[in-house]
Amino acid sequence: MLNRQGRPTEAGDASLSWHDTFTGNRGLQLEEALIFETGRIDVTGVDLDEPEAFAPRLGALMREEEIGLPGLSEPEAMRHYVRLSQKNYAIDSGLYPLGSCTMKHNPRLNEAMARLPGFADIHPLQPPSTVQGALALIEELSGWLMALTNMDAVAMSPKAGAHGEYCGMAAIKAAIAAKGEAATRRFVLVPESAHGTNPATAAAIGFEVKSVPAGADGKVHPDAVRALMGPDVAAIMLTNPNTCGLFETEIVEIAQILHEGGGYFYCDGANFNAIVGKVRPGDLGIDAMHINLHKTFSTPHGGGGPGSGPVVLSSRLSPFAPVPFVRRNGETLQMVEDAAGTQALGRLTAFHGQMGMFVRALSYILSHGGDGLKQASEDAVLNANYVRACLADLMSLPFGNRPCMHEVLFDDTWLKDTGITTLDFAKAMIDEGYHPMTMYFPLVVHGAMLIEPTESESRASLDLFIMTLRDLAFSALRGEKERFSGAPYLAPRRRLDETKAARSPVLRWTPLQPVAE
Ligand SMILES: *Cc1c(COP(=O)(O)O)cnc(C)c1O
Repeated sequence: MLNRQGRPTEAGDASLSWHDTFTGNRGLQLEEALIFETGRIDVTGVDLDEPEAFAPRLGALMREEEIGLPGLSEPEAMRHYVRLSQKNYAIDSGLYPLGSCTMKHNPRLNEAMARLPGFADIHPLQPPSTVQGALALIEELSGWLMALTNMDAVAMSPKAGAHGEYCGMAAIKAAIAAKGEAATRRFVLVPESAHGTNPATAAAIGFEVKSVPAGADGKVHPDAVRALMGPDVAAIMLTNPNTCGLFETEIVEIAQILHEGGGYFYCDGANFNAIVGKVRPGDLGIDAMHINLHKTFSTPHGGGGPGSGPVVLSSRLSPFAPVPFVRRNGETLQMVEDAAGTQALGRLTAFHGQMGMFVRALSYILSHGGDGLKQASEDAVLNANYVRACLADLMSLPFGNRPCMHEVLFDDTWLKDTGITTLDFAKAMIDEGYHPMTMYFPLVVHGAMLIEPTESESRASLDLFIMTLRDLAFSALRGEKERFSGAPYLAPRRRLDETKAARSPVLRWTPLQPVAE
């Protein structure tokens, strides 16, 4: 059976028969087709006069057919985009426990600051004399990032965490080349638990990846690093706190091993939000680290906005920092754009980086102050540990019931013999109105469930989340398999064939043949 949108309905499943509405809508959850499916090319939302005759200069490139853009009236266009926006689950709608992603509240003060015309309406090609305030903001934010990390320099232009990794590893590559070791130092050590971007970055820069095994306690041990260290190793890429939510306690010794062997220490700083104000990465022997402004300093990310991944560099790497950067010349600020005659690794992006994100991050930093940033880290860690402590009697912890940092990692040992998987459990959370936690990552843990509540959540909101997970867990342990195996039952789309979507994605929309009238 097809509904009005021509989509198959789920008839046959009695419990779902109410899905088969005439409109395809469910209550006030509205279906929305693609704009090409709803818009009509003979309709336009604006009235334009016929242009006067003119001689086009496109020659043979002139379009001969209709452009075929869908036309909608203004209210139709408005509804289309509002309905699409309502299909996003967002941190502004509810708790978003996605581990490793740090979905924290973005204070609206940040947005107000970013929309000030002096920041929002400037152009990167304006003469520096007309944007001194914006340059001063970049300089001030840079100062904070260097102070919080105790590092020598910061490259502001990278536009995401992964882009920052690229920048830091490019600086390491440049430093190695400057020492004449480019041909020999070919390997980068990456722990098994690392985020996928780490080995991808190392490979994209032209290094080969050697995997460092994690210890039984989920941490990287100096002996494992020492065993792999040699004159052919360029660097290690280590995340701290790591993706198991644990602080790498041996990090100082690991840094020493790298430095004594002539290598560099890249730290993936995506989890900096757990330690801001508590530990300065520069004090641990780190040479380069990206900071995800969109995680640690609250600016929007993912589908919600652009990222920003400034990279702090130690004195060993600062000469290789990319252009552009801001330099103070007496009273005036300059944007240094030219790498000629220096060791700078060149330019990573057009212009200067994500200005709007800089404004939001500085707004967050200044409104918290040094003590407030420290408190935010402590609260993020406290919230994760509260979740851990309230679920540890039901759900299994791969590294024992010990304190974690900003995120808590469960595995699927506790689901053994229930016939319910991590995926089933996550899908049942959707029926309860919760975005699932990060699943099956990190790979070092079987059936991983990684929960990061962040400091944004109140005690009441955490309690409801915990009670919901406890209810689901009891249900799983009682063997109520149906609640899980068919979930989500209540979402606009049921369980998708994710393997098929990944293996044979349909990446191109082709119009349905018009029905003859
Ligand atoms: C988020 C994250 C990244 C990548 O950051 P993007 O801004 O998404 O590119 C890298 N490593 C870790 C550990 C992360 O959590």
